[in-house]
Amino acid sequence: MRKLLESTSKRAIRYLEELESRNVAPSTEAVINLAQFDELLPEDSTNPELVLQLLDEIGSPGTMAMAGSRFFGLVTGGSLPVTLAANWLAGAWDQNSGMAHITPATAFLEQVALDWLLDLLHLPSECGGAFVTGATVANFTALAAARHAVLDRVGWNVEADGLFGAPPITVVVGEEVHPSLLKALGLLGFGRDRVVKVPVDSQGRMRPEAIPSVTSPAIVCTQVGNVNTGACDPVGDICERNRTPGVWVHVDGAFGLWAAACPSLAYLTHGVEQADSWATDAHKWLNVPYDSGLAFVRNADVLKASMAVSASYLPTLSDRRNPSDYTPEFSRRARGVEVWAALRSLGRSGVADLVERTCSHARHFAREIQAAGYQILNDVVLNQVLVSFGDAEMTLRAIAQIQAEGTCWCGSTVWQGQTAMRISVSSWATTDEDVERSIAAILHIAKK
Ligand SMILES: *Cc1c(COP(=O)(O)O)cnc(C)c1O
Repeated sequence: MRKLLESTSKRAIRYLEELESRNVAPSTEAVINLAQFDELLPEDSTNPELVLQLLDEIGSPGTMAMAGSRFFGLVTGGSLPVTLAANWLAGAWDQNSGMAHITPATAFLEQVALDWLLDLLHLPSECGGAFVTGATVANFTALAAARHAVLDRVGWNVEADGLFGAPPITVVVGEEVHPSLLKALGLLGFGRDRVVKVPVDSQGRMRPEAIPSVTSPAIVCTQVGNVNTGACDPVGDICERNRTPGVWVHVDGAFGLWAAACPSLAYLTHGVEQADSWATDAHKWLNVPYDSGLAFVRNADVLKASMAVSASYLPTLSDRRNPSDYTPEFSRRARGVEVWAALRSLGRSGVADLVERTCSHARHFAREIQAAGYQILNDVVLNQVLVSFGDAEMTLRAIAQIQAEGTCWCGSTVWQGQTAMRISVSSWATTDEDVERSIAAILHIAKK
């Protein structure tokens, strides 16, 4: 056991150290070589050392360098070393973290991390929270609580009786709603298309005056951090217009909610604390390993009412928080340990600095690319930059060549009808030098 784990940690460290000098995208050859995994199920056992050797020699080269400092293709960071180390230790603990009574250490760490998160993000201290797999499931979890609350108010028990015959719930979203939120609505039986869509402005923000006045039962889904522009809905304004009992306001803040932790950017999330529920990701801007999402619900009892179950073999009675009372999952790994490690290591100022620094890198990209004569399509308020190199074909051709050249990796998008390259700066590891090298590579290709 010791030999296997030590050799594997050496492999992992070497992998991370080599990211600096390799192309961000895997080579075509490395991707072709993945076919070597495509073998028949072995009839007999294999030495674990050999299994890890296969994984490293065939798998490692076939990865995208997302853990490195020049991957800008998604709004996801790399893993802070302290969080990867915490992930290793918690992996060794192997705690099935549903119940405080059975797994005291991990349940306690999650409680502490939750309290810290509410403090850091300026959310109400009485909130209940759930450590889930990502913002998709965080939206699902928070909206399940919303569904419980707005129907309970009109005398309907959705957990017991389902949605057949229930009073209809009006669901409002912005035109720029993230597709994963629509998926969550579908999973909850609200329907992906059975929504009222509110028009947005040029940055993708919901126009609050365009929100139809809704009556109970209703759920208004807002967004902080548009996945293309980084723009944030005016949540405070939207909450003020919807102070009606039985109208629930939810915030999808997968990455944008972290602006609340940065004094110079907190204006973007003004008023979010007035909402009823929030979803965010830790694997995006907090730079912890996948999969790590967070749901917060102002009324912890409502979240519990929508999630908790009991079973005769499970002693759920506890004066401490049972994680499984708040999550869709029962058995789960203690992903909150990595969140705890990130916060314990960075502290309040470290989180603010991480958010501030990545946004400053984004502004740097925008400034230099614009100065070279290319168009920036969004107001760069957060960590997102949309670049046009001309028409759609030219832009897509430039993106393909930037990806192939390998210094950095950015993806494509279509923003309000215009094809663009999307740069998301979210990693703790990105330095000024990384940004300068990436800009040089991007401009060199664009000019050709
Ligand atoms: C990334 C993102 C999601 C989905 O998050 P996952 O962690 O991938 O499930 C939802 N909403 C917004 C605004 C996002 O940026």
